[in-house]
Amino acid sequence: MKVSNWNGNPSLKNPTINQFNGKVETEEKFCVRGNGRSYGDVSLYPTMLSMLHCRRELSLHDDILTVSSGYTLSEVLNFVVPKGYIVPVIPGTQNVSIGGMIAADVHGKNHQENGTIGCWVESVNLLLADGTEMHCSKDENSTIFAATVGGIGLTGIILSAKIRLERIRSTQFTQRVIQEESLMDLANTLDTSSAKYKVGWFDFSRMSSFFLIETEEASEEQDMTSFQLRKPKINIPLKTLPFVTGPLMNIYNKRFAKNMRRQTTERVNIGLDETFFPLDRIRNWNRLYGTRGFYQFQFSFPMQGLETKLNEIMEIIQSSGHIPVLSVVKKHGDRKSPGILSYAHPGISIALDFINRKDVAVFLQELYGHIARLGGRVYLIKDALLGETDFNQMYSNVNEFKEIVASVNTGKITSLMAKRLNLVAE
Ligand SMILES: Cc1cc2nc3c(=O)[nH]c(=O)nc-3n(C[C@H](O)[C@H](O)[C@H](O)COP(=O)(O)OP(=O)(O)OC[C@H]3O[C@@H](n4cnc5c(N)ncnc54)[C@H](O)[C@@H]3O)c2cc1C
Repeated sequence: MKVSNWNGNPSLKNPTINQFNGKVETEEKFCVRGNGRSYGDVSLYPTMLSMLHCRRELSLHDDILTVSSGYTLSEVLNFVVPKGYIVPVIPGTQNVSIGGMIAADVHGKNHQENGTIGCWVESVNLLLADGTEMHCSKDENSTIFAATVGGIGLTGIILSAKIRLERIRSTQFTQRVIQEESLMDLANTLDTSSAKYKVGWFDFSRMSSFFLIETEEASEEQDMTSFQLRKPKINIPLKTLPFVTGPLMNIYNKRFAKNMRRQTTERVNIGLDETFFPLDRIRNWNRLYGTRGFYQFQFSFPMQGLETKLNEIMEIIQSSGHIPVLSVVKKHGDRKSPGILSYAHPGISIALDFINRKDVAVFLQELYGHIARLGGRVYLIKDALLGETDFNQMYSNVNEFKEIVASVNTGKITSLMAKRLNLVAE
């Protein structure tokens, strides 16, 4: 059996996957795994510990959620939304585990206002590699807390967390679309837009159709007591022939742009599912890429000097012939996460999906070098190819992170990524 994360690259043949039963039992090195919704090798290793059965607590007192790490975001939303609360930071899929969200320090379309999930985590209960439990927060075992939020599962096993929630009054949202002339115009409008949720989209193959999608919660109060997220209408049961191809995505992107253009003239009302999880409408959509899978390359630059840097990166990609089939832009604000290794820093973040064609991996490795040279960084949770030198240049506080990890993990908890980037002892 082959096991991979969401993008299918890399995959491991017949790994051992142990279900978490409350203890660290294996003598072997292992990595901690949530629901495998990262892209790359951050939760892969020949021996893995699946946390999806860690589900002892799910409760809400005032605005504080206490939740075991194996619950998924969809389960949590189905529990808290009917009570008038929402998780303040929501990534682009509901199928992530709470442990995975914290270990990635995920961001959403509201990063400028709400920061990452780490800004809302009050405390975490960890099970360390030696079997002891540790409670950590900003005030207690604070360095371990800082290396756990966004720490890609290397300080220990997250058993549960306390997360502060936000109130919502409605599961209805209004969306409006603004068209821009260029990628830099889109980045500038994203930067200054005051919408709570905002995201950019553009058609890379034509370098056209730059849209900013702004979403706000509806102003009227609504009865949410029976709210539950919808189940996906379509399921892709097996890996198909590679359905996602350049020409097909050209047609898809053209249609998407036409739809966006139509929305520039009027505000539309959409529900919570559509606001946060448009991709979840098709279960297992990643299988449409076929067995070859894909890579998502997410990188960011600060606003200062952005235009020159973006132009250079876009030109390198254009001339490589490896054209992304999907391109999304987000704004990261300056709300600081407690996580030492967290990705989201103030600036503009771009996520590009590349079909895994011949030589694309070699090209992306070169691209990492350019991002590092220009002072940018890539999101570890979506990576499988970054080399140690580029990584060290992108994440300047890596030595501090490694020291903290070493104080609680002598190398027993690891991952393919941790090995590649030399993050834990061998
Ligand atoms: C369609 C899609 C859209 C996405 N959109 C966004 C987005 O908008 N913003 C964003 O930030 N991310 C986004 N992501 C990435 C996703 O949020 C993260 O990869 C998240 O970590 C996945 O959670 P998981 O439970 O599947 O974790 P896994 O992929 O299984 O693991 C991810 C990391 O968490 C660690 N981990 C998991 N559980 C635990 C635990 N209990 N204790 C300690 N460590 C643990 C693993 O070791 C690994 O380092 C998206 C992913 C997909 C597939």
